[in-house]
Amino acid sequence: MQKVNYLLQGLLNCYSRLNQCFNLKVLFKIALFCSDKIIMTNRQLFLNHVGQTSEAPLSLEIVKAEGCKLFDADGKEYIDLIGGISVCNVGHRHPKVIDAIKKQLDDYLHIMVYGELVQSPQVQYAKLLTEHLPASLNSVFFTASGSEATEGAMKLAKRYQNRSQIISFKNSYHGSTQGALSVMGSEYWQQAFRPLLPDILQMNFNSFEDLKNITERTACVIAETIQAEAGVLIAQNGWLKALRKKCNETGTLLVLDEIQCGFGRNGTLWAFEQFEVVPDILLLGKALGGGMPLGAFVAHKKIMDSFTHDPVLGHINTFGGHPVCCAAGLAAFKVLLDEKLIDAVKMKEELFLSLLKHPKIKTVRSRGLMMAVEFEDFDMNKKMIDALILAGVFTDWFLFAANCLRIVPPLTISDEEITSACTKIIKVLDKI
Ligand code: PMP
Repeated sequence: MQKVNYLLQGLLNCYSRLNQCFNLKVLFKIALFCSDKIIMTNRQLFLNHVGQTSEAPLSLEIVKAEGCKLFDADGKEYIDLIGGISVCNVGHRHPKVIDAIKKQLDDYLHIMVYGELVQSPQVQYAKLLTEHLPASLNSVFFTASGSEATEGAMKLAKRYQNRSQIISFKNSYHGSTQGALSVMGSEYWQQAFRPLLPDILQMNFNSFEDLKNITERTACVIAETIQAEAGVLIAQNGWLKALRKKCNETGTLLVLDEIQCGFGRNGTLWAFEQFEVVPDILLLGKALGGGMPLGAFVAHKKIMDSFTHDPVLGHINTFGGHPVCCAAGLAAFKVLLDEKLIDAVKMKEELFLSLLKHPKIKTVRSRGLMMAVEFEDFDMNKKMIDALILAGVFTDWFLFAANCLRIVPPLTISDEEITSACTKIIKVLDKI
């Protein structure tokens, strides 16, 4: 008791001395200023000052990324099972990508809006891409993101066909801007933003029956070759071919969105190769930029040229095909091809499948290194994601399949990393 009295006495003395020397209100203001400017952690600043997209962001602070690993502010290591969501196909900070970026930094950054000047990184990348695409896809229009590629493709189809209707599919995701949102296959995400684009029809993915809705007034049908956010929903045998045929019969352009599934993720360079169809317009993004922001839509030159007249400058943007992004993307594309990363995708998929066996896993849907591990419900999946982060494995869920764990790692992931990540997944499953 005596000790407590001494302590209280001391504190009171301190308070009155401080009050004599300084105005305590001023001290309090200084403390607030310091806590805001100095003491506030990056995490608090992120939550307070960076526009948020949900009330529960993962909010890990990552300070370094290399290969298939992420490192947080405490030096803790995570196996990255999502590679920035299908972006880092050649791994984080591949040395050849870093070199290409550095080289381009020494030459020039942004010099002029898209489409006016000859910029070597753009030209060289368009050349290499088109050399690895069917001959009918020989003109690349660069954008700064996947959503903008969707926007550009929809405009191109309307302009070229002089038709207005666009058809898309339930549970499809093509971006979050208003045009892309208009063709998203989810009323939940659309309803708060209506009115959206008119003359959009949604059909069921994989429904042969629904193909009858495609008519002479349809400008284009837009589909993901493999629906990613639906939890890796794969086109049924023959369905994409039937869709292609119906588009041919009605003079409708077929737009395939490979923003998430392109660049080898599904075991072939382009997913459409596995279904023996060729789109009229191909959408690219994510891995296209090798870790830098880049999107593109690719079509035949005769279609693409409709943007040059009636009206001139039919589609323009400032940052599309940014030289640094194109230099990075070109280097990453060369790494993908030179290191034959796609050849190992099937074996890595099989290793994952052989290890991901547990009574609590309902099923695993996969095509190459695009996998959805299905659990009973979102609660279980969320518990898994949180526990896995603690265990040093980074994953998340799918927009339209919240009960599925996402596995879309860099294609460079090693067998050891796959085994280690899967062992942790199974251990966590045993516990929760
Ligand atoms: N299409 C698909 C299939 C996607 O997965 C995404 C991004 N998740 C987009 C379009 C939109 O790309 P971005 O976020 O770069 O605008």
